[in-house]
Amino acid sequence: AKQLDAATVRDLFAAHINPGQLHFLKLLGFDKILVDRAEGMHYITRDGRKILDFFGGFCSVAFGHNHPRIIAARQKFQDENRHEICMAFMSQYAAALAKNLAEIAPGDLDMVFLGSTGSEAMEAALKVAEQVQGPARSKILHAANSFHGKTKGVLSVTDSTLYQSQFKLVENRVKVPFGDIEAVRKALESDRSIGIVVMETIQGGGGIVEAPLGFWRELRALCDKHDVLWVADEVQCGLGRTGQFFAFERDGVVPDVTALAKALGGSKAAVGAMIARRDLYMKAYGKPKSALIHAQATFGGMGEACISAIEGLNVLYDEDLMGNARRQGDYLIERLNQLRAKHPSLLKEIRGRGLMIGVEFNDISETMPFGLKHMVALLDDKLKGSLCGFVGALLLKDYDVLVAFTEYNRNVIRLEPPLIATREDCD
Ligand code: PMP
Repeated sequence: AKQLDAATVRDLFAAHINPGQLHFLKLLGFDKILVDRAEGMHYITRDGRKILDFFGGFCSVAFGHNHPRIIAARQKFQDENRHEICMAFMSQYAAALAKNLAEIAPGDLDMVFLGSTGSEAMEAALKVAEQVQGPARSKILHAANSFHGKTKGVLSVTDSTLYQSQFKLVENRVKVPFGDIEAVRKALESDRSIGIVVMETIQGGGGIVEAPLGFWRELRALCDKHDVLWVADEVQCGLGRTGQFFAFERDGVVPDVTALAKALGGSKAAVGAMIARRDLYMKAYGKPKSALIHAQATFGGMGEACISAIEGLNVLYDEDLMGNARRQGDYLIERLNQLRAKHPSLLKEIRGRGLMIGVEFNDISETMPFGLKHMVALLDDKLKGSLCGFVGALLLKDYDVLVAFTEYNRNVIRLEPPLIATREDCD
């Protein structure tokens, strides 16, 4: 394909993709930037600007952009004319990736369903849980400010009126505040039809929110007591980002089902994985009669995607990226807290673990310039004021640093850089 310029891309975006979204891209000045290449920690624009990536595609770039080892593995795969789509035949690549994930995942999390996205992995997770629990216990407990995807099934447990209001949702669900074990206890004790609990281990779209230490241990005990299945969404927080492979490992417990996606394809391919306890999976799909109820989709377990994922996992361990995430994350949080102490009226809170960090600004709606107020009002009518879009745009304009905004709390900037970030990058 021939190279297009920024104006042409903008016009095509407006004509064929999402004209409404262009409005926001324009407000941030993103309609004038065309990224041509990406290497390691950086995006490189058509006009040669190097933009430091502390956004990381909402945790989709764990290994850095175009990691040479992942590129080489893909290249070898192509040079050897390996096969891609395995629907009819067994795939050695899918088998090898599933084995790796089963070995990494603790406990009996041994059965792997491979798809392409986080939403697909989470759909598979909820389906396995529902299959096992049956219709009488299929009510789902989820958390306020949750994000699990926008496909029709998981949309019901994604807590956003903006995303949900136009669609008919699964009614069989109940919501509790995130991290509130007493609310979970009350719900499970009073409603036997709740058979499934689904939560992100660290809320990403909610603004990098952690449950209190020990919450997952207590949740595990409650689920065991009431015969409820715990589905841990690790799509954003998993894959080593917090310094441990799964964020739930913080509390030394194991969920019944979990899901990974985003960077799982080595940041070069779309791979989502649902990993379930062996006995649950066997109960749901283990018999020939039930095996096809939720078997892989067209591109699930695709060769080059699996190769990318396997090499990504090798890089994660060989380069000690989890250790790096811990070290750089601690350093960033310490430095950000120093800034907060210096500017308490501006910075409200720094939170997170490893390289999944939320920087919350104070609400300054009263003093905000008109243009910004206007921009923010367009984003969300519930919102009173936010600095984060403004700060994000400034960082990009003046410092060539890209950060992420946050869906449900526009006062929060997310720092979710590739796990290869160095101390200089953090500085
Ligand atoms: N779960 C969580 C926690 C996520 O952050 C996301 C994506 N932001 C999803 C699920 C959905 O993933 P995808 O966009 O790949 O469908």
